Amino acid sequence: MSFMITEIDLAKELLAIQDPYFPSINKNIVDTGRVRGINIYNDHVNILIENDKENSTDRTENVKKNIISHLQKKLNLQKISVDTTKYTGQKSEVSQLLKMSQVDGKNKVSDKWNMDSHKLFWHLDRVEAWQRGERIAPLHIDMGISNGCNMGCTFCYGIIQNRAGFGTNQKKIYHMPTYAVKRTFKDAKEIGVRSIALIGEGENTLHPDFYDILEYGREINLDLSLATNGIRLDHNKLDVVLNSLKWFRINISAGTEETFMKIHRVPQMKRVLANAAALSKRKKEINSNCTIGFQMVVTKDNMKDIVPLAKLGKECGVDYLVVKPCSDTYDNRLDSPHGEYIEILETFKEAESFSNKDYTVSIKWKKALNGGWKDYGSFGCHGTQFILGLSGTGNLFPCGHWFNERKDEFIMGNVVEKSFKEIWQSDRYWEVQDKIRKHVNVNKDCESNCRQHYVNRFLAFDGKKSISDIKKNYKDHIDKKPNHVNFI
Ligand code: SF4
Repeated sequence: MSFMITEIDLAKELLAIQDPYFPSINKNIVDTGRVRGINIYNDHVNILIENDKENSTDRTENVKKNIISHLQKKLNLQKISVDTTKYTGQKSEVSQLLKMSQVDGKNKVSDKWNMDSHKLFWHLDRVEAWQRGERIAPLHIDMGISNGCNMGCTFCYGIIQNRAGFGTNQKKIYHMPTYAVKRTFKDAKEIGVRSIALIGEGENTLHPDFYDILEYGREINLDLSLATNGIRLDHNKLDVVLNSLKWFRINISAGTEETFMKIHRVPQMKRVLANAAALSKRKKEINSNCTIGFQMVVTKDNMKDIVPLAKLGKECGVDYLVVKPCSDTYDNRLDSPHGEYIEILETFKEAESFSNKDYTVSIKWKKALNGGWKDYGSFGCHGTQFILGLSGTGNLFPCGHWFNERKDEFIMGNVVEKSFKEIWQSDRYWEVQDKIRKHVNVNKDCESNCRQHYVNRFLAFDGKKSISDIKKNYKDHIDKKPNHVNFI
């Protein structure tokens, strides 16, 4: 790919544009916080700006025009869109970009697992079928097998969705019957699903048949993985975990016990770290290929813990720490600090410096700098045809966002009552997929930076090109096949 303009190049150019809200003091649109996010996809550039305090449409339109003409002239860009959002009064990430000479594609720490991207490039057969308008099988399912949790993290989307267990009024945890879990695994494999991640709604290790379920996944040769809070791990079953899963990820978002208590709301940090260390040790003993990682969600309360956690991950012997912004509801119910990541861009870089050949600290830069904006807005969401969300109660949805939101409109069926295959073949499944594409506004109705975001961007900007062109344009990238290629 020859297009090498970075977010920094763009931010520098935007400094030349004056904000008309401050005519007398000559302030530019970056410093005033007018520019909220920058999204680049090859030669497509999207700038997110906000209205000013007085909501002046004229001024905002003026800024839009100036951005487009300036970027066309100075950088010879042709595919520019400028979107507008409401006034926030917050600082923006973009001004800080300019201090961050290394926040660009060229100097990033190598992302061995493509965590700040997607893996559709290695499933172009399915993309081609989608291009032909076929009723394709999804490539991946994020699947819950229990609907409750024994932690109550402050950023938990499941709590907003009123999942059961600690942190909500719903105390009785439901575990999906084991026959339904196994039938879903089997059906999924048969129709062409290439991976399942036990993620979502609740804490899946609470399922009474958890290890039996993992073993079944291995028996049928399913690419399976797990995201867990890390509290429950039977040390007599470490080999089952390591032999059944492609990856095992602990969601830990604190580097000290004090923050752990504040964020996760249970005094279990020592136990979680001991579990991570035990699994990592056993992995080396049996030379397992299972990747073990930590994931941190950055909120307003744990920014100072990023570096300490990067250090702890290394000490525990896990393979990586991935740090990501907090996905939020469209009305910001989780109080995600989009505008405050500017305070910590240097911290992100410091955390990355803990990386070495055995341990990677990876920041989801794109999601941290895009202002929470989906630059493919009018294209809509097609990613749910490739990645589905299945709740712990067996309810199948296009994605986890709808588990408790406009549920009746988006539920496709329940895998306890009906087999996954039957649901996938039903007209209802495709009616819901159509509705998602045509009637959901991804910047208004959805959560920010959702799971399907990278896939959606690829489909919007490259998805209509011929497969041979995609292969040609991305040859270098495709040749560098990442690990866990089936977990798109
Ligand atoms: S864009 Fe909306 S509908 Fe599509 S996956 Fe994301 S949250 Fe779900």
